[in-house]
Amino acid sequence: MSKMKAHPRPDMSQVPDNLCPIATIENPMLPGDWRAERPIVDRAKCVKCGICWIFCPVQCIVEKRAWFDVDYDTCKGCGICAVECPQNAIKMIEEVK
Ligand code: SF4
Ligand code: SF4
Repeated sequence: MSKMKAHPRPDMSQVPDNLCPIATIENPMLPGDWRAERPIVDRAKCVKCGICWIFCPVQCIVEKRAWFDVDYDTCKGCGICAVECPQNAIKMIEEVK
């Protein structure tokens, strides 16, 4: 019988209270590490209506002074914001690492 390789244990003092510790152990990456596409906001078109903020399933739309932008650490690249933006101000582009 083959011996299973021990999984490296994370420092649990670094895991935020609102995250499931099991999921954190199995997948310590942020969405920005594996996203296939990223949204780009055209600041000239954005009218700051907040629709993208309402529809984003992971709440990674952040408010700037004159437009709404994206937190690229937590954005998973689903594209919902681009579909829902009434101004067509968000386009999805391929993620390049
Ligand atoms: S939905 Fe479009 S226009 Fe509205 S805040 Fe988001 S990017 Fe700007
Ligand atoms: S692509 Fe998805 S996760 Fe990223 S900002 Fe848009 S709605 Fe949110």
